Amino acid sequence: MAKAPRDIASELKPGRVVPEPFSPPQWLALGDALDREMRQQFRIPASVDTIAIGWTSVEGLTRRRFQGASKVIRESANIPTPQPHVLAPTDNPQFADHAEQDVVNAFIDGLQEVSQDRSPLDGEFLRIYISHGDGPCTKCRQGLNNRQVYPGVLAEFSRRYRGLTVSVAWKNGQQQLEFMSLLGGERLK
Ligand SMILES: [Zn+2]
Repeated sequence: MAKAPRDIASELKPGRVVPEPFSPPQWLALGDALDREMRQQFRIPASVDTIAIGWTSVEGLTRRRFQGASKVIRESANIPTPQPHVLAPTDNPQFADHAEQDVVNAFIDGLQEVSQDRSPLDGEFLRIYISHGDGPCTKCRQGLNNRQVYPGVLAEFSRRYRGLTVSVAWKNGQQQLEFMSLLGGERLK
């Protein structure tokens, strides 16, 4: 008898290590479950974007969720505000304080708590699920695979922790998984 597909969403529990996804359907199910978990925690309606959730392999931080949200959501939800370690590459407020920027800054706050902030984080990962169907905006992606422009938050963050694999996932308008993998400030795929 064929083995039933693993129910990764039911394996996700608040305050516990995030289960490992092994396929695009599992990534989507996990992303949806992380999205639901954060919306329940902060009473964010399902219809509003953007929120983002990060999780990591770094010791001492594996049970954490690094949470981010757009400014509009933050106005009505009591989401912790991280320190502004990584800044947007523009003064235009439309492109500042984005959900993915919050996630990497919350992660750096966490690294400082466990005294890992100076580490290149070789072999570790930070994964980020973004609720928006377009994924990271062009400003947040700026400077990946192009060192001649000022880096956006993802490039700047990835250059700072050059051994850390940063995966960014989202569900596009066709309900398919989109994925970016970053290492040393470059987009690998
Ligand atoms: Zn952005």
